[in-house]
Parts: sequence; C-alpha cells; structure tokens
Amino acid sequence: MRALLIACDFDGTITRRDTLHVIVEAFGTRGIWAALEPRLRTGEITVEEAMEQEFGEVRASREEVLAAVRERAPIRAGFPELVDWSEARGHRVVVVSNGFRTVIDAVLGDAGLGRLEVASHEASFSPDGCRLSWSDRGERCSLCGRRCKRYEIERRLRGERLVYLGDGISDRCAVGMADVAFARDGLAEHLRERGVPFLPFEDFHEVRRTLESMARDAA
Ligand SMILES: [Mg+2]
Ligand SMILES: [Zn+2]
Repeated sequence: MRALLIACDFDGTITRRDTLHVIVEAFGTRGIWAALEPRLRTGEITVEEAMEQEFGEVRASREEVLAAVRERAPIRAGFPELVDWSEARGHRVVVVSNGFRTVIDAVLGDAGLGRLEVASHEASFSPDGCRLSWSDRGERCSLCGRRCKRYEIERRLRGERLVYLGDGISDRCAVGMADVAFARDGLAEHLRERGVPFLPFEDFHEVRRTLESMARDAA
C-alpha cells in the first residue's frame, strides 16, 4: 500500500472531550462566548479575537489547567496503538490542531506519544489571565477564507495518501483534501448533510482495523 499521511485533529478527536471547553468550563467566565457571539456573527470581531477574550478570563496556572484536562479529557481508546501500527508500516501521523501546544504535549506525553509531530497554536496560562499566540498559517485559505489546517497539511504531504480524522468546524476545510476521511460529531453531521462520504468511528482501534483492511485489499 502507498504510504499514508495520517492527519489527526486533537480536541474531541484524540481526546474524548474538547480541552478548550474543559479549560473554559473549569477556569473561565460562564457565558462569555454567548455574549461575544452577536459581534462574531456580524464580523465585528474574528474567531481569534473572541478566543483571546474568552481565554483572557481563564485565570489559572499551567499546572491547574493540565490537572483539569487530565481529569476531564482522557484520550480516546486505541490512539497509541494506531500510532505504533502506523510507524511500523512507514506511515506518518501528524496532529493538526487549533488548540494549544502546552496542553497537547502534556496529554500526548502521558500516553507515551511525546515524539509525535504537532501543528497547533499556543497558550500561556497564568493566574492573571491566559494569553494566546497564533502559529503562522500563511495567507488566508482560498477556499474557506481563514488561516486553516490545509496549510499545515499541504506543507507536509510528500505524495502520500491522506487520511484525515476530525470532529469539528476547524476540520471542515482540511477534510476536503483527504483520500480517506474519518469523522465524528459535528464534522460527521456536516459531511452527511452534504453527501460527502466518510467513515464514522468510536475509537482508534476501529480506525486501525479499517486501515489494515484497506491495506489488505490493496495488496
Ligand atoms: Mg476537534
Ligand atoms: Zn481552508
């Protein structure tokens, strides 16, 4: 089988819950996103600006944040096994996230996966409020008008087949690049409504078995 680039979203995909939601729920100000929503809808502020305001209210140390994430956002079963399987067959796994490096590194490190390549943004947590820094995702994407995950995937693809796994709004544009798409939750609904084929999944054991059987069919 041709080598695979397996691009995987982090929040709500590798983890069972979105760590950003967990962090805001534990340490942020209730209702702030709803209060920002009208200005977001009219385009008065960007999603990034809304997130900066939301996380500015998150008053907690990095240690407190990581403790809450570890307790409330465990990883979905089978992810380490999928990574092992991929590495043994010469496939590459890359985590492509709109979340924060500090959090992702801690969760992956706990799972023995600190070696994984990660493309994400970053957050600096403090009891005085959290500051976000956005990674460089080049020019606005010509398809979605945002600095989206396509940029991170395009610069990593070296002729492999692309497998994409995700669950949310930030995956909608990038999943369109995939040769094989796995989706859950909102992303699954979005693709279903548009008649775009995808494979639903509950855990990564299922994903691995599907990729294994594809490899067998291709042999
Ligand atoms: Mg997600
Ligand atoms: Zn895009």
